[in-house]
Amino acid sequence: MVKFTPQASCADPQEIGALSVDQARQRIAQLIRPVTSWHKCALRDGLDRVLHSEITSPIQVPAYNNSAMDGYAIYGDDLSDSPVNLKQVGIAFAGHPYHGDVQRGECVRIMTGAMMPKQCDTVVMQEHVEINESMITLHGQHKKGQNVRFAGEDLTTGQTVFAQGHRITAADLGLIASLGIAEVTVKRRLRVAFFSTGDELRSIGEPLEPGQIYDSNRYTLYGMLKKCDVDIIDMGVVADQKQALRDALTLASEQADVVITSGGVSVGDADYVKEMLDELGHVNFWKIAMKPGRPLAFGQVNDALLFGLPGNPVSVMVTFYQFVKPALAALSGQTELISHLVRVNCISAIKKRAGRFEFQRGILFNNDNGELEVKTTGEQGSGILRSMSIANCFILLDEDCDGIEPNTRVTVQPFSGLI
Ligand code: AMP
Ligand code: MG
Repeated sequence: MVKFTPQASCADPQEIGALSVDQARQRIAQLIRPVTSWHKCALRDGLDRVLHSEITSPIQVPAYNNSAMDGYAIYGDDLSDSPVNLKQVGIAFAGHPYHGDVQRGECVRIMTGAMMPKQCDTVVMQEHVEINESMITLHGQHKKGQNVRFAGEDLTTGQTVFAQGHRITAADLGLIASLGIAEVTVKRRLRVAFFSTGDELRSIGEPLEPGQIYDSNRYTLYGMLKKCDVDIIDMGVVADQKQALRDALTLASEQADVVITSGGVSVGDADYVKEMLDELGHVNFWKIAMKPGRPLAFGQVNDALLFGLPGNPVSVMVTFYQFVKPALAALSGQTELISHLVRVNCISAIKKRAGRFEFQRGILFNNDNGELEVKTTGEQGSGILRSMSIANCFILLDEDCDGIEPNTRVTVQPFSGLI
C-alpha cells in the first residue's frame, strides 16, 4: 500500500522553502539595476519623473529682502520701549519698490512681498500701528529684523535643491519654477508589460459562460501601474497553455524592463508560469511566507525582471504594493524609498496563526477623541477585492503573531504613503 504523505500547502502556517517577506525584498533588491538613460523635458512634463541630474539654485531665494506682512518698514534701531512716532515718506508694493531714501525717524508703507527700502530692516504689521495723517505711532513689543524675509534665507546660489534620484512632486514643480528653471533632466520611464493568465478569464464586453469570470486583475494592475509613472504595455489574457505562455513571456521580455503576470503560479495542474520562467530564464524564488500572496514567482527572462503574481485579486494588490511597486521605484532610479508605518490601537480582534506574515486590510479612522485607530475590513479572503476597496491601510502582523485581542497596538501601513 502506498503511504500518503501530505504535501506542503498554502493552508500550512509556514512552509519549507518559503522566504520571509524581508528575505524576498532583499532578493529583489539584489537584482535591481536602475535605468541609466535620460532626457531633458519641459518643467511641467517633469511631474512624477525621477531626476537624473541634481538641481542647484542659479539664484538666491528670496532674491532680495522683502516684507512678510502688510505694514510699515522701519529702522530697527528706532524701536524703543515707549511708543515711537515715525513719518511716512513713501509706499512700496510687490513689484513696485520704493527707491527713495529713508532717514531715522521715518518709515515706508509696505505690502507683503514688496522689496524692503534699502535702509530698513524691520516691518511692523499694520494692526500694531496708529495712523495720524502722515505720522504713525507704534504700539506693542517689536523686535529688530521682524517680519522680513532676507535675501538667500531659503536658498543660496549654487545650493543643491534636489539631489539626483528625487521624484518630482507638485510642490517641487513650483519650487523649480521659482528658480527660473524651464527644463529638467529626468531618467527614462520604465516599460512594464503585463498580462493575465487563466482559461476562465473573459474581457469585459464579452458574455460569460458558466465557469467563466471577468478579468479584473488587468484593471487593478493598470490602475496601480498608472500611478507609478511607467509606460504600460497591456498584453491581455493568455491561456493556460505552455506555448501561449512561452510566446507571451518571450514577447514581453523583449519589449519591457519588467514583466508582471497574474495567476498560474501555484501548484495547480494548469499553473505553468513558474515552469516557463524556469525554461526561458531564471527563477529566483517562488514562495513567500505571507498571506495573502504566498506563491509569487520572481526571476529574470532576458534582461527583464519577472513578477509572477498570484491570481487572487487581493493577492495581486498586496504583492504589487509590497514587492513590485518598491522595485519599480528603485529601477526608475528613485533613491528615496520610504513607506511610512504608524503604530495605532486596533479595535478589532484578529484571528491569525503564527508562521506567516499577514497583510490584513484595515480602515484607519479618527475616534471620538480625534485619535487615530484602526479596524479590520472584516472577511479577509484573498478573492474579496471589496476588502481592498474599502480599506485605506494594511495591518501588518508578523510571522510570530498568533492573533490579537481588541485594543492591541498594531503597525499599520497607510495606502496613501505606499511607495
Ligand atoms: P490562479 O493563481 O491562477 O490559480 O488563480 C487563483 C484565483 O484567482 C482563481 O479563482 C482565479 O479564477 C482567480 N483569478 C486569476 N486571474 C484572475 C484575473 N485576472 N481576474 C480575476 N480573477 C482571477
Ligand atoms: Mg489560473
